[in-house]
Amino acid sequence: MITLIGIPWDGSSSFERGAAEAPPLIRAALRSASSNAFNERGDDLSSPAVLVDAGDLSLPAAAEGARREIEHGMRNILAQASKPLALGGDHSITYPILCAFRERSAGLTVLHFDAHGDLYDSFDGDRHSHACPFARVMEEHLAARLIQVGIRTLTPHQREQSAKFGTEIFGPERWRDVIRVVSGVREPVYVSLDLDVLEPMLAPGLSHPEPGGLTVRDVLEVLAALSTEVVGADVVEYNPRNDYRDLTARVAAKFVKELAGLMR
Ligand code: MN
Ligand code: MN
Repeated sequence: MITLIGIPWDGSSSFERGAAEAPPLIRAALRSASSNAFNERGDDLSSPAVLVDAGDLSLPAAAEGARREIEHGMRNILAQASKPLALGGDHSITYPILCAFRERSAGLTVLHFDAHGDLYDSFDGDRHSHACPFARVMEEHLAARLIQVGIRTLTPHQREQSAKFGTEIFGPERWRDVIRVVSGVREPVYVSLDLDVLEPMLAPGLSHPEPGGLTVRDVLEVLAALSTEVVGADVVEYNPRNDYRDLTARVAAKFVKELAGLMR
């Protein structure tokens, strides 16, 4: 079973708010009559046997309480022997999500798509900023392995952090190399997909558009190379305030459909 769960949180965004408004719009794109409910493998996303929609988490305004609720919400899904497919929200939500996987993190590989490394020790004085989740994840050994794809904004500090934690970074020009790497992964995988990994023209509804990114198909080809269990996933950083004709909502919905297929 896969549970779609919205996480309407953008209180840890360093630049613009808006990502908290994303989950209902991604759902609307998912159900839009402009397309149908099937993914490319032929799974029917309208069937509860494929995907159950648990709605959005209700979160308090304070970040610490919100992180607690996010972890709690994910633990509830895991306790039902289901797999969370989370709709962000800003990227800070990935740390509390992975906290819920703590008991099974020993062999967990995290496949992270992003323009940014999100490895800052602290950003604007906030250690839980959306620029920091993977520093917390690696410090707390919530992932045995972190494969980062599409990264193109590394500062010297983030390069140091990557070396310190041993993360495997691939720039956007190396996505084909990632296919080879992920096809060899045998351990369970969690996928964290920041939509700003894409070329911004393909996904304008972002808080941090960064030119020089991947296409939607490049990302799907990397995902299709996964031949191991996918235990959970998130699609984050859709900012509807910057979108154009729901283009980015549709891209997010597309990723939800294909990720659900991989998680079955
Ligand atoms: Mn990110
Ligand atoms: Mn990003």
